[in-house]
Amino acid sequence: MFSFRNKLILAFFSFGLLLITISSLLIFKMQEFSLKATSIETAELAQKVLDQDIGLYIREYDNSLLALENSAVFSRYLNDPETYKKEMIDFFSSFVSSSDSIYQYRYINADGIEKIRVSREEPGSEVISTHDDKLQNKNSRYYFQETIKSNTDIFYSKIDLNIEHGKIEKPIKPVLRIAKKIIHNSQLKGILIINVLMDEFINRLVSSPIFDIYLIDKNGYFLAHPEKEKRWSLYLKTGYNARDIFTTDTACILNNIECRADQLYSKQVQTLHNADGLTLIVRPRLYKIHKQMEEQFSSMLLISIAVLLLSYPIAYLFAITPTRLLNEVDQLNISLEKKIEEKVNELRVNNDALEQKVLVRTRELEESNSKLFKQATIDLLTNIPNRRYFFEMSDRYLQLSHRKQQALSFIIFDIDFFKKVNDDHGHETGDLVLQFITEKISLILRRSDIFARIGGEEFAIALLDTNIEQATEIAEKLRISIQDNAYTNNRLSLELTISLGVTQALANEQEVSIILSRADIALFQAKSFGRNQVVIS
Ligand code: GH3
Ligand code: MG
Ligand code: MG
Repeated sequence: MFSFRNKLILAFFSFGLLLITISSLLIFKMQEFSLKATSIETAELAQKVLDQDIGLYIREYDNSLLALENSAVFSRYLNDPETYKKEMIDFFSSFVSSSDSIYQYRYINADGIEKIRVSREEPGSEVISTHDDKLQNKNSRYYFQETIKSNTDIFYSKIDLNIEHGKIEKPIKPVLRIAKKIIHNSQLKGILIINVLMDEFINRLVSSPIFDIYLIDKNGYFLAHPEKEKRWSLYLKTGYNARDIFTTDTACILNNIECRADQLYSKQVQTLHNADGLTLIVRPRLYKIHKQMEEQFSSMLLISIAVLLLSYPIAYLFAITPTRLLNEVDQLNISLEKKIEEKVNELRVNNDALEQKVLVRTRELEESNSKLFKQATIDLLTNIPNRRYFFEMSDRYLQLSHRKQQALSFIIFDIDFFKKVNDDHGHETGDLVLQFITEKISLILRRSDIFARIGGEEFAIALLDTNIEQATEIAEKLRISIQDNAYTNNRLSLELTISLGVTQALANEQEVSIILSRADIALFQAKSFGRNQVVIS
């Protein structure tokens, strides 16, 4: 799997990646937010400028109407139309010529009859005055009626498409009529009216590289639209409506003087009051925003890649120190483990030695214990139990016999004329004779019999589960065995005999010493009867 260093690098690397991702997203969101906010702010500003533009455009014509109304030429004409008509036409012509956007300049009398009409077909084309027989009666046209009726100084028509002989003129000619009611010498004389071509102006109005600009009427129909074919949707009956584009924002746009939606800013046109109820909508072009954001996104991506590329060596550098530390700790651990192992082994060896010592010591103790026991219980010369041990064991045998209701018999014997052996052959030979007799007797007795040396050359035997008859038989066997086996060594041969006293423990008899004294009496009798014999008591 991964080494510690690689894990550390991976951790640093992932941390860097996470940091970049989160911060990039945050920055991206913040920029998107601020971009939207600033774009709406700019849209608001743009709307104001455009509105001002409309105002300035129109005021120009207002002023020309006012100037004409108050001119001496027009006054003369009104007083004497026949004489001053030519002069008036020239005057109108110079006005029309002064601006490419003026399409028609007319004077219509109070009955609605066109009296002077100066116009041109196209912007920039020749200005012509319409001949009298071609002048029309405009009494029924709404702009005439509205102007006559109006109390305001100047009447602005709807911006509509020019109609010639009852049909929309093609190519379309968007027209705004600006008219002024003429009162001369307190008498209604008619109206002065300018037809202003709005095509150029609207083209100019919507030509923004940053915004989509729309001009709509109070019903949402387009007068201006970035796409030409969607303009004049009311008159061309194409059906395009603000609702199609602005969907949920449409209500906000149409019902309010001002509307600031998420992606657009709209405000009713303040500089032109006519029946259209115009609203100017400015919408930052989304693709522009997206493009900007995409640019930012790709630069952010580049930065991220750069940071990622950088973070590997940085992570590597950061990982070096902890890795070294870890390696050192590992080394330390290994040496520590070794030391611990050595110590444990040492301890184990010490422990083994200690155990060994304890074992040896225990054995020694056991040996010395058994030695002590032996010393306390065994006769050193003959290597059979001593007097003390004989009495102790006999006492137990006595209790056991009583409990099991078994017979328990005792034999006491003494070597005949032993003093003489010592006297004749020395004390050492006496000792050897004592050992010789012990061996001979031991060969005949059972393991359960207790055979002990209870005096110098006096011995006692306790016989378990043995009655007096059996005991007498055994005593006889012992006597014969000694009598028939002379002690011999390389220097001499000694004929030996022993005298024996036999007795049996009586029922409920408790004292071994009393029983033995009975046997002792029997032995004494055996001596006095001539030795080398068995006497029962
Ligand atoms: P009796 O037939 O009447 O028993 O005669 P005895 O000579 O055997 O009897 P006595 O009691 O007069 O003599 C016993 C002798 O046994 C006296 C003593 O020197 C000897 N004796 C006792 N113990 C030892 C011993 O351990 N080693 C040797 N060599 N002699 C011993
Ligand atoms: Mg004796
Ligand atoms: Mg003796």
